[in-house]
Amino acid sequence: MRNSLYLTTLGILIISCGSQQKSIKSKTPSKTTTPQAVVPIKKTEIKQDEGEYYKVNIADITKNDNTISYGSIVSANPVGYKISKTYFPAIGQNFRQRYVILHYTVLNDEKSVSTLTQQSVSSHYLVSTLPDKEIYQIVDENKRAYHAGISFWRKDQQINDTSIGIEIVNLGYTTDSLKNRVFYPYPEEQFKKVAALARDIVSRYNIPATNILAHSDIAPTRKQDPGPLFPWKRLYDEYQIGMWYDEPAKQTFLNQILTTNDIALQYNNPEFVSKVQQQLSQFGYALTVNGVWDKPTKQTIEAFQFHFRPTNYSGIIDAETLAILQALIQKYPQK
Ligand SMILES: [Zn+2]
Repeated sequence: MRNSLYLTTLGILIISCGSQQKSIKSKTPSKTTTPQAVVPIKKTEIKQDEGEYYKVNIADITKNDNTISYGSIVSANPVGYKISKTYFPAIGQNFRQRYVILHYTVLNDEKSVSTLTQQSVSSHYLVSTLPDKEIYQIVDENKRAYHAGISFWRKDQQINDTSIGIEIVNLGYTTDSLKNRVFYPYPEEQFKKVAALARDIVSRYNIPATNILAHSDIAPTRKQDPGPLFPWKRLYDEYQIGMWYDEPAKQTFLNQILTTNDIALQYNNPEFVSKVQQQLSQFGYALTVNGVWDKPTKQTIEAFQFHFRPTNYSGIIDAETLAILQALIQKYPQK
């Protein structure tokens, strides 16, 4: 039993080391492989992103400083030994933080603080409604906060592992006499806080536009936050954060759709439904392509509309929504 466990572990080690060695070799083919004594290593200049080794490295390598830490440096402190950090640290590392996820709390200021600090849910930052200059940090950026839950985007899942969560104090929505949802707006001062905070995080970790998302984007069947009144377009226009479509591209797609397709006619055609589902999935949402307007599909369309077409979040596809989706897929293709 012990032997087989040992062999399995060894096997995994060999596979994992093998792929790393290959990558390192391709970067430095002239290096000797003979064992050497540990000596201080000079800082190597990394000129460009070459090969697969750096594909996952989201640090800004043009600054040649992918080893920077923005939080506390946590090290072991083994009894009787010294942990040495004087040598150049490994180039094979990146930041854990690859997403920024925005939320609303559905609680007032006071309850937001008590819930996010005293219960099992949390976030890294909390932005109150107060018109002051203060933003609360409640979890270290290097640690995981519990804000995303079961979540997916493009090839990623468990987004808590790789994100910084920002909770915005907002009561969510109420319902009117016709049972329509009426969302609460975000005060201007609060939006400015969120935008300044997001810009700081995004620039420090070099987080791509495709990874600045709503909770509803990464969990559309469970979540609506931060809702259709969060001004994503302003975040893009005024702070250059996140994704937005280009109007001319959208117009081109819209003209194509209006001249070649009659959405009303083919609305219930399984092929059309599958095409829409496939495009939502291509953009990044986790969705089963089954040719049926099922509940998850409608919720996903709604999440998309909350973010990119907030004037009409019916959960029903129309030419405008489809044109925006196609413009975004073209502008932000999955690699
Ligand atoms: Zn949320």
